[in-house]
Amino acid sequence: MSSRNVLVINSGSSSIKFALVNEDSEQFPIQGLAERLGSSDAVLNWQLGDEKHVAQLHGADHKEAFERLLPLVQKASQGKLTGIGHRVVHGGAHFTEASALNREVIDVIRRAAVLAPLHNPAGLIGIEAAMALYPELTQVAVFDTAFHQTMPAHAYRYAVPEHLYTDHNVRRYGFHGTSHMYVSRKAAVMTGLPVEDSCWLTAHLGNGCSTAAVVNGESLDTSMGLTPLEGLVMGTRSGDVDPSLHNHLARTLGWDTQRIETVLTKESGLLGLSGLSNDMRTLIEAREKGDERATLAIEVFCYRLAKSLAGMACALPRLDGLIFTGGIGENASLVRSKTLDYMRLFNFKLDEAANQKCVRGEGGIISAENHPRVLVIPTNEERQIAIETLALIDAHA
Ligand code: AMP
Repeated sequence: MSSRNVLVINSGSSSIKFALVNEDSEQFPIQGLAERLGSSDAVLNWQLGDEKHVAQLHGADHKEAFERLLPLVQKASQGKLTGIGHRVVHGGAHFTEASALNREVIDVIRRAAVLAPLHNPAGLIGIEAAMALYPELTQVAVFDTAFHQTMPAHAYRYAVPEHLYTDHNVRRYGFHGTSHMYVSRKAAVMTGLPVEDSCWLTAHLGNGCSTAAVVNGESLDTSMGLTPLEGLVMGTRSGDVDPSLHNHLARTLGWDTQRIETVLTKESGLLGLSGLSNDMRTLIEAREKGDERATLAIEVFCYRLAKSLAGMACALPRLDGLIFTGGIGENASLVRSKTLDYMRLFNFKLDEAANQKCVRGEGGIISAENHPRVLVIPTNEERQIAIETLALIDAHA
């Protein structure tokens, strides 16, 4: 059988990120981003092999953007497109794994939009457009939440009245599941351990950040909760705050819930602390020049990350390795070493040369000999979505 191609789509409210994944090749034959959809300066950027291209889309919506990009994808796949995998942020408690898309599944995703009002409707626009254009192709929804559905009740329940859980689905779900799953499986392969007998702490540190405890291939706890705001300090998200902060801000400043949500999701985190940027690269450079707020932002980020990882360790029977991934996890040696410095009781020690070497896609083991294993593993959510899409196609063949 010749190797198969899956188109992976991540549809946002005004963007479509896409990549063609070939099951036998590390490189994506084509990948790109359509942005500012619905506005007059809508644009499509794509990379075919090493060549970069750009086309103005002049007010195109999602469907028109698909009409433009799908022929490019068809050409790059040489007409051999096996399926389409869609990233969907929230599957609620309904989806424990990827699901082939049909009307019923779409309805459940729509109902879960109450839990992810910004993300699920945007994902559905992409799904409906792609299904209208490719009705004959198997299309699969892969959920950020699904991997964490193995969490036990003591990890996913909040200590609030039970009816909020039973009647209103108020519980912890967790996100970034595709990434936590991909890197924990990759770590097992790298270290020669069977997935079903391996124990990992994972730290996905990008613009959004979360930790997870992955035991024998299953997520047993994770730092994000009902929404992707819970847990770690992120680029612009506060992560955990005292829940009474909302009331305090309403009482003292007269802010409404919308304003509070905007401040905590868009103006907080590294940006809020530093007053400078949500971008870790910028903060590391500013710290080197002595910027006190950037220095503090990095310190809070690392300390809170260390605290979260130490807490996640409660879910592990033993530790086979701590994995860093995501833009910050894969590139920022400073963040990696600072975080481990805050976890003194765990006896971590880095091989500093190996730590420095892991940047721009270079992964590997970065711990010193005879100390608990620490790994940097570049995440590849597109590949994981393609793997799950193909598995589902095979299961139904
Ligand atoms: P992601 O959302 O996974 O693309 O990650 C974005 C984050 O990764 C941003 O905070 C970037 O500043 C950070 N990042 C990317 N490259 C580097 C780097 N070389 N050093 C430090 N942080 C980086």
